[in-house]
Amino acid sequence: MRKPVNSFPFATGTTNRFGRSRIGHGLTARNSNTRISPPGMGPRSSASFESKILTEATGTLGQGNLGLNSERLRAQMVERVREQGITDPRVLNAMMAVPRHYFVDQGLASRAYEDAALPIGFGQTISQPWVVARMISAVCEESLPKRVLEVGAGCGYQAAVLAQIVPEVYAIERIRGLYDLARDHLRTLKLNTRVRLSFGDGMLGLPKSAPFDAIVVAAAGLHIPQALLDQLAVGGRLIAPEGTSAQRLVLIRRTSPTSWHRQELESVRFVPLRSGTQL
Ligand code: SAH
Repeated sequence: MRKPVNSFPFATGTTNRFGRSRIGHGLTARNSNTRISPPGMGPRSSASFESKILTEATGTLGQGNLGLNSERLRAQMVERVREQGITDPRVLNAMMAVPRHYFVDQGLASRAYEDAALPIGFGQTISQPWVVARMISAVCEESLPKRVLEVGAGCGYQAAVLAQIVPEVYAIERIRGLYDLARDHLRTLKLNTRVRLSFGDGMLGLPKSAPFDAIVVAAAGLHIPQALLDQLAVGGRLIAPEGTSAQRLVLIRRTSPTSWHRQELESVRFVPLRSGTQL
């Protein structure tokens, strides 16, 4: 069963808690930072389960109330991620600790704990919870990285989850409006000292802060940029989606100063990795 494609039927003109209106432009089923489930591996996203979440969320998260309900919904989200094969307790606990509804527009807060990517404006998305969990688990598998670079911070959610586990998180975003949004979100959650956020082209990496024990790329290019491979420490791990219409997560291990080992993982669908910056 193919994972159902969400058509993102959201109206323009909603406001977030910072009073901006951002949603609804340029988002398609093709750019959504989700896994494409292999046959027979569909997630447990039955209509009844989804509607239960929505019913529970309505009237609580949408009003900005961060009460017990958001915790229960988050626990359900984490449980679903676990059922889909992510068992690293560090990752599951980190996802439990970060309020995902803070990172989406207030008009979408009631959907924040679904197993879906959601629009964050500028044609970009917050990654599906499973994707976030998968990428972080993959780079933390053998040993916990000390210094991690995330390329494509978007609204800052994945960086916030990483910061629960990893001592030094660097994140870079190329769209100014999203960089500002991530900075606001991280500041609200008092994570701005734990995540060093930059505005710039992440395809170039962050040479001044390299080498990184792990690099997580949240947007898909045709190839993984050489600058990122070069900024990976020997023994370090990089995970990135690769491809255009058909994409896969690729896990790279740097085995020596001149060699990298490559492993292909699940089929996914991510927003494109683009060079340069957008003001
Ligand atoms: N990490 C986010 C996912 C954001 S979507 C999360 O937590 O959900 C991917 C992001 O990558 C988009 O915001 C897009 O603008 C950004 N991006 C694409 N190419 C980039 C580049 N070269 N440098 C930095 N960011 C880039």
